[in-house]
Amino acid sequence: PHNNGVNGMASHQIPDIKFTKLFINGSFVDSIKGRTLETVDPRNGEVIARIAEGDAEDVEVTVKAAREAFDDGPWPRMSGSQRARIMHKFADLIEQNLEELAALDSIDGGKLFLWGKSVDIPTAIEYLRYYAGAADKVHGEVLKSIRSLHAYTLKEPIGVVGHIIPWNFPSIMFFLKVAPALAAGCTMIVKPAEQTSLSALFYAHLAKKAGLPDGVLNVVTGFGHIAGAAISNHMDIDMVSFTGSTEVGRLIMQAAATSNLKSVSLELGGKSPMIIFDDADVDQAAMLALNGVAFNKGEICVAGSRVYVQEGIYDEFVKKLVEKAKAWKLGDPFDSSTCQGPQIDMKQFDKVMSYIDIGREEGATLLTGGKRWGTKGYYIEPTVFVDVKDDMRIATEEIFGPVMSIMKFKTIEEAIKRANASKYGLAAGIVTKDLNVANRVSRSIRSGIIWINCYFDFDADFPYGGYKQSGFTRDSGMDGFHKYLQVKTVVTPLQDSPW
Ligand code: ADP
Repeated sequence: PHNNGVNGMASHQIPDIKFTKLFINGSFVDSIKGRTLETVDPRNGEVIARIAEGDAEDVEVTVKAAREAFDDGPWPRMSGSQRARIMHKFADLIEQNLEELAALDSIDGGKLFLWGKSVDIPTAIEYLRYYAGAADKVHGEVLKSIRSLHAYTLKEPIGVVGHIIPWNFPSIMFFLKVAPALAAGCTMIVKPAEQTSLSALFYAHLAKKAGLPDGVLNVVTGFGHIAGAAISNHMDIDMVSFTGSTEVGRLIMQAAATSNLKSVSLELGGKSPMIIFDDADVDQAAMLALNGVAFNKGEICVAGSRVYVQEGIYDEFVKKLVEKAKAWKLGDPFDSSTCQGPQIDMKQFDKVMSYIDIGREEGATLLTGGKRWGTKGYYIEPTVFVDVKDDMRIATEEIFGPVMSIMKFKTIEEAIKRANASKYGLAAGIVTKDLNVANRVSRSIRSGIIWINCYFDFDADFPYGGYKQSGFTRDSGMDGFHKYLQVKTVVTPLQDSPW
């Protein structure tokens, strides 16, 4: 076991790393070229494992296996309830390994162990169970024609899916995509983020143990511009489902367009507004706002990084927020009193720090934070800027770190207008006791999810995704299921029928 000197942490809680190879057609294998890549513990920058680095050749072999499993294998032909049984078994096995999986995401991604144990892994399990429940409820419609035709629709699995997933929620993202595709009867290749592939490989192992037929769920670890690009350019993949940056989303859509016009689902960046009205409970609002930007170290696409506060409570809000930000505890993700662990890697650390410099240069006032925390690892203090203008880069660009921009507003109309003045449209928060205000603002904001007097509250049944350049289609909920199904219309003539 790797116990990298974690305070108060029993060494057995830090897991052995058992799976580091590609998972193709039911077996763990080295990459064809034998290459590996390093995976690093963001608490200290130390290499914790080397994992297989797949490339286009490995993707080729994998797609062949997934294609065969789709064209000739049992998975798409089973009844929905048979698929559901295997998915429930898969979920049971995750439950039995819950702590180990949470610990893997913590050492791999700097994520809070307690959260992993109580939220991330249980949510992953919930996705499997939710979509298992949908697997046997796939049916089309009988269509009423004005002519003498009998027609109906069939819902069929879309085929071989490529899932390209990010590093901020390795387990939730994995099942958010894999679970509905499994339920639909698809076969798939998953490319986890190169920074956080360990839990994905563990899930592949558990899938096999649960009885998932070979070739249905394959995991190819590797770099985005190599393995990821090979997936999005592949001629025999029917759909690519991507979550990540807007920049890479564009590349994936281009690749899909120039290859085989595969179906594309994109969940991309955000710069989500949180709008706090004068009648809000200031303590609650300050906590929601701080959590909205510092939860998961701000590495969350729906982070509420633009905070609009109505003028009547502005001063009091800022005072409380700064107090809370100063009390927000950074530290080891395995320590149960820690609120925030390290950023994922050096690249993201540098990016966030450079945005803090940009904020200062643009003339915003830094009230708290702005510095690295500790002497090793990639920790950044929660950082609060005021005197921020709407067109500053810190107020318009996605930072993906614990950096908040606070802006003052007077009227509801102004708040709506300014909140909507973004190229993104992923989420928004509203804090008010006035139902009419909450209703009006939620209907006026162009984003995929609105939280009223709460933030980050998700459920397997809630669809989410983007408006504008935050992407299109929805993940989660039944909307996140239907995109993995094709609709086929079957028409026959009706003869001698009374109607
Ligand atoms: P970030 O910039 O936050 O790391 P990315 O959008 O780059 O987020 O990464 C999300 C996922 O997309 C990762 O699995 C990554 O490997 C993959 N990826 C990165 N570049 C490409 C690319 N050119 N084509 C396909 N996938 C990519």
